[in-house]
Amino acid sequence: MKTLAIDELRAHARGDVISSEDERYEDARKVYNAMIDRRPAVVVRAANAGDVIAAVNFARENGLEVAVRGGGHSVPGFGTSDRGVVIDLVGMRGVRVDPAASTARAEGGATWGDFNAATHAFGLATTGGIISTTGVGGLTLGGGIGYLARGFGLSIDNLISADVVTADGSFVQASQDEHADLFWALRGGGGNFGVVTSFEFRLHPVRDIYGGPMFYELSDVENVLRFYREYIADAPREMGAFPAFQIAPPLPFIPQDRHGDTFVAMVACWAGPIEDGEKALKPFHDVAPVVAEFVGPMPYPALNGAFDGLVPAGLQHYWKANFVDELTDEAIAAHATHGPDVPAVNSTMHIYPINGAVHDVASDATAFAYRDANFATVIAGMWPEPSQNEANIGWVRRYYEATAPLSEEGGYVNFMAADDQERIRANYGANYERLVSVKRTYDPDNLFHLNQNIKP
Ligand SMILES: Cc1cc2nc3c(=O)[nH]c(=O)nc-3n(C[C@H](O)[C@H](O)[C@H](O)COP(=O)(O)OP(=O)(O)OC[C@H]3O[C@@H](n4cnc5c(N)ncnc54)[C@H](O)[C@@H]3O)c2cc1C
Repeated sequence: MKTLAIDELRAHARGDVISSEDERYEDARKVYNAMIDRRPAVVVRAANAGDVIAAVNFARENGLEVAVRGGGHSVPGFGTSDRGVVIDLVGMRGVRVDPAASTARAEGGATWGDFNAATHAFGLATTGGIISTTGVGGLTLGGGIGYLARGFGLSIDNLISADVVTADGSFVQASQDEHADLFWALRGGGGNFGVVTSFEFRLHPVRDIYGGPMFYELSDVENVLRFYREYIADAPREMGAFPAFQIAPPLPFIPQDRHGDTFVAMVACWAGPIEDGEKALKPFHDVAPVVAEFVGPMPYPALNGAFDGLVPAGLQHYWKANFVDELTDEAIAAHATHGPDVPAVNSTMHIYPINGAVHDVASDATAFAYRDANFATVIAGMWPEPSQNEANIGWVRRYYEATAPLSEEGGYVNFMAADDQERIRANYGANYERLVSVKRTYDPDNLFHLNQNIKP
């Protein structure tokens, strides 16, 4: 019966419908986090919204679990399911720019690399993630933090409308004017409310930026973090910069005898006039000697792709996250204790600034509640070998246990691990009840539950 139903779906779909006997199945079932090893009943590589509607109806009518995959980067592996239906949007990556209106429409499976390449041609950009292979879909639905956030707000603050396939197979367009409640919930509520087949964004004039990574000695860590706290509080909004802990990869800009050493790093992105870039980055050069750097003018998409090599698909992942109002001396001391123990070149800890334009939006204007927080921290454990799981997971947990009590209760949903589901209320604060109410309207049976789940 099920095979017959799959055959029927295959006959109707424009995209590929891949089940276990298909030679592409092993590849089609993989997600970015290699720790996740699931065997879906079928992977539907949708070609258009019609295929998405067919796949949603197929799953619901056959009582199968639904996983929606945009860029596939979810650390908890929400883009796959054992015995369920994966709606994979990898075939829907088109981006259309309207340069006159300064807007762009991205299909639900586009990555930020796809998006930035398309908009860069017109000297335009909007807030997206710091890695080019991350999906526009998942990143935007959780909020969207990136280099341009202090200037232009979160990705959701630039969202104008979304095309959505809801749990009953309906297709709706959500915006301030239509399905406004759904539009509110989509902006931070994650994949809880339906499959977004297309996102329409506002763009801003950004072509080239001045920036890149700078590495400082660990002995300067407290200086660098204290400086960063003061500096970023009222830095020009054109500046997006975050500190990190990083083992030096074997790259030409780092002295060879320092490859493999651990540094406190700063990654800066000055999106103002290029000629002011050097001056804008001067405070980062004055705070402590920079041991190595790769800083200068570059196209915005070049910075967006600069660290892709450190985080290829197929690593093991375990992450923890918090919002932070105030980076206290005690918190800085905790970072100085645990950051330098980062166990793998792929692993890191970032402190993203979410002030500036992110604070221009009220806490209840979108589902993203932590508009008063100044930072979103993420302890991102990423490493190649399962044999290193204990060391890396242990580092993430120790670091998190030391910093969480010095942070807000909630964290950014997109940085959460599979074992963070109980934090869901805290992540949304006062917005949680309204999210539940929108969930009851659009997905009363919780068909879309493979996410940081808001239960109807
Ligand atoms: C290497 C790396 C770097 C990152 N950098 C950043 C960063 O700079 N800023 C930031 O904010 N976050 C960042 N993140 C976190 C990222 O936002 C989340 O992992 C996000 O969920 C990834 O989205 P995706 O589409 O790639 O993932 P997926 O695994 O495809 O999806 C994640 C979730 O979103 C849902 N979803 C995805 N697309 C759609 C869609 N079109 N319609 C409905 N639901 C959808 C899925 O169902 C799932 O629940 C990063 C993650 C990684 C692994």
